[in-house]
Amino acid sequence: MPEGDTVWNTARVLHRALAGARLTGSDFRVPALATTDLTGWTVTESASRGKHLLLRLTAPAPVTSTIAWTLHSHLRMDGVWRAYAPGERWTARPAHLIRAVLRSAQAVAVGYHLHELALLPTAEEERLLGHLGPDLLGADWDPAEAVRRLAAAPGVTIGEALLDQRNLAGVGNLYKCELLFLRGISPWTPVGAVPDLPGTVALAQRLLAANRGRWTQSTTGSLRRGQTSYVYGRRAQPCRRCGTAIAKEDLGDRVTYWCPTCQPTPPPADPGTPPV
Ligand SMILES: [Zn+2]
Repeated sequence: MPEGDTVWNTARVLHRALAGARLTGSDFRVPALATTDLTGWTVTESASRGKHLLLRLTAPAPVTSTIAWTLHSHLRMDGVWRAYAPGERWTARPAHLIRAVLRSAQAVAVGYHLHELALLPTAEEERLLGHLGPDLLGADWDPAEAVRRLAAAPGVTIGEALLDQRNLAGVGNLYKCELLFLRGISPWTPVGAVPDLPGTVALAQRLLAANRGRWTQSTTGSLRRGQTSYVYGRRAQPCRRCGTAIAKEDLGDRVTYWCPTCQPTPPPADPGTPPV
């Protein structure tokens, strides 16, 4: 599942394949970019911010007066970028899912099922990304700011708040479920009732950081198949700590897994003293 660490890894793959290279061809299979041709453009760098991918490019001077451009993409649930050697077969996904192809003399980057694909002046990146909270894997990660943003809406459940990229950028459903299990917190606990918000935020950062540089996401320390999570994807299987069957609830695309024993449901909010 593409969460902050997967996007971070993908940015490194693209950086290694294309940074510094002059593009010898491009092919965009989305209507908005159908006529865009990046031939002759130079790839400056590839970066990630939360779950957003930013491929920064330099346009050749005669093409446009704006020199620095960014090709933005988002992987959501199903997007991938792959780098291939020239001539190598593109096998990651069926060809009809290809949305972008970038060619250089040394490598070909192929983007499948990309979302929010857009080319914009680098100076305008904030227009797309300005709403994001601190990036868990960013050089400017700011845990105090993430805690401040979370705490600003104390009535929202912690499960929802962790997924809201305006609070902190990079946590998806897998890390949300695993993090709350590790902290012993029910996903339905209001943010204001979470005992140690800074500790929860710090653990979120450690979980993502631990998975940088590899594609198998693990929160248990094991990379063995079937052993990589405590609760995520384990409905009805015994909790690794207490043996209780792991529960699952589907709320649209927000699937939540939790252990009802290790993560007890919070008591209803105290309504206070009734008025006389
Ligand atoms: Zn348990």
